[in-house]
Amino acid sequence: MQQQPWAWPENIWRDKVNHVRAGRTLKPAQWKNGTRCAVAFSFDSDHETNELRDGGKSIGRMSQGQYGNRKGVPRILDALAKHDAKATFFVPAVAALLYEDEQRRVAAEGHELGIHGWIHELNSQLPYEVERDLMFRAADTLERLGGKRPVGMRTPSWDFSPDTLRIQRELGLLYDSSLMADDDPYELVEKGEPTGIVELPVEWIRDDAVYFNMHRFNGLRPHTAPTDVYDIFFREFERAYQEGGLFLLTMHPHITGYRSRIWILEKLLAEITQRSDVWIATHAEIADFVKAECLR
Ligand SMILES: [Zn+2]
Repeated sequence: MQQQPWAWPENIWRDKVNHVRAGRTLKPAQWKNGTRCAVAFSFDSDHETNELRDGGKSIGRMSQGQYGNRKGVPRILDALAKHDAKATFFVPAVAALLYEDEQRRVAAEGHELGIHGWIHELNSQLPYEVERDLMFRAADTLERLGGKRPVGMRTPSWDFSPDTLRIQRELGLLYDSSLMADDDPYELVEKGEPTGIVELPVEWIRDDAVYFNMHRFNGLRPHTAPTDVYDIFFREFERAYQEGGLFLLTMHPHITGYRSRIWILEKLLAEITQRSDVWIATHAEIADFVKAECLR
């Protein structure tokens, strides 16, 4: 019989905590070209894959996913282009295959494509071999569509399994962006061993889905006004700026792309680009920079 957690000997709880751990901070003294703050916008182009992962029965939820392609991504790309800002799009392979032209446009406009699973599967439900196979096939798919081998990953739903880091090392990735041990970049440590993989940390606080998601048949409803969401995001940026750190934001085309919400991104871009000492870059560029600066 499995022991209950309160009966575990010390080595068991220590091993669990140390399986994947934050190591050295990778917050540089200053950012590229002497800037004081780095900003990383990410857009998780899940589109229909959340519903497909759940069985693909709801045509209505599927249509919400399609909105992400038809309206969300174009509005986001236009906002980024207006401010000449480059960003990272994490795309499940199935969403990429459904919308190949979208991925080609994202790549052609200078943005990064990052791995986001095959069909937005939950890694912690998969055996190692399956998780590994899906991640490698996802990397192959994005490479074919975007013309570049992806160097980074965001686990779908930020569901990081006990095998995920091992597979990321096998893939030779530069960075992950799914964990939450810091505000600023850090090095991932696996069972006490520094991996050289850069973590660009996320947080639910800096994720549009938390505030806006809605589900017809359960109690999930949007609970924060768009103006309040903007306020939270801007405060996160403002403090990162004061501290000389990283502001990393996660948005979803099928959540933020709406007429009443896209202004949040547009206003953030307008405010942030007014400051000449902020570096807006893709996740790959930021990971590359901190690795060179801090892991020499
Ligand atoms: Zn996602």
